[in-house]
Amino acid sequence: MRLPRIKPEHRPGRLGDGVIRIGGTVYGVAGEIADPNGWAWTALGLMDGSNTSEQIADALLRRFAALRPEQAARLVETLIGSGYVEDAAAAPPPELGSEELDRYSRSHAFFRRIDLAPREHGWEAQLRLKRARVIVLGLGGTGSHAASALAASGVGSLHCVDPDRVELSNLNRQVLYREKDIGRFKAEVAAERLGELNSGIAVTSSLDRVDDERTLTALLEGFDVLALCADRPKDPEGIRIWANRACAAAGIPWVGGGYDGPLVTVGTYSARSGACYECVCAGEDALRRHDLDIGHGGPGVMAPSAGISGQLVAHCVISLITGVPDPRPGTVRGLNLVGPDQNVFIHHQPRPDCPFCGAGEESGAEAGE
Ligand SMILES: [Zn+2]
Repeated sequence: MRLPRIKPEHRPGRLGDGVIRIGGTVYGVAGEIADPNGWAWTALGLMDGSNTSEQIADALLRRFAALRPEQAARLVETLIGSGYVEDAAAAPPPELGSEELDRYSRSHAFFRRIDLAPREHGWEAQLRLKRARVIVLGLGGTGSHAASALAASGVGSLHCVDPDRVELSNLNRQVLYREKDIGRFKAEVAAERLGELNSGIAVTSSLDRVDDERTLTALLEGFDVLALCADRPKDPEGIRIWANRACAAAGIPWVGGGYDGPLVTVGTYSARSGACYECVCAGEDALRRHDLDIGHGGPGVMAPSAGISGQLVAHCVISLITGVPDPRPGTVRGLNLVGPDQNVFIHHQPRPDCPFCGAGEESGAEAGE
């Protein structure tokens, strides 16, 4: 890193007792540094983008007689490695044009804030999104919100699949459609609307109806992630089982989201790490938690519950693609809208004999590697 600079979102403050708080107050991002001698505080003050690492270390040595050269160098290196520092000399990658830098400037700030891995220019997550190929299966309540968020976020290739036509009863939650679209194929309308939202990405569509695992396997060809937003056919041997097995065979991760009335849950699965869908279900069955439906598709839905479901799907897909934040495959998360203190987080180990998962715990970007 040529010219270290504290990220604007991570400006540090002193708490007293020689402790520095950095990265704001959000759990998972914020950190504290014990700094009894004021060395780190001084070093952070010098990280304004005008000094090299060597110049910062030299300035520390001039100011603090007790500091040894190797300590000063290590301190600077540690602060740079903390993820709270960016390189003021880094230029955006040429693969992103000026319009993209403007369009995704707030996404850049978001990733810059929550990504605590030292990066070259801070646009790595956006580049991964641009290179990603995502298939969204099902364009109903969950899928229409998920596809909108993925298109807006700059997923480079988005394929929308749904065999159904728009109906009046869809319009209480399916945000891609208008009254004038009633009777048209959802996939075609969705591709139009998403193209209007973001003309810088490639949006395609098809009317495939998935009635078996073989059909789904064929659809996955050429994609990095599946966003499963359809809930039919139901388990057992339904669409989630097919997704689990087809994605394992294709070697791609997937996200499955939906709702059971006010309970919204979204699962993230990868054959490379964490438990697969069938192992998570087995774990829940062993706990006899039949009240927690991770198969989805229960009756009753409105715009907020569909929106939360779809947006959570998009969030999990983005984290699979970018590694930011850690996608934590093998987990189910969600909200209970009638029990706001009952947030959902489910995590199980892979079954020892599972043919679809169990490669061990990993973290980082899962898609498009
Ligand atoms: Zn498994």
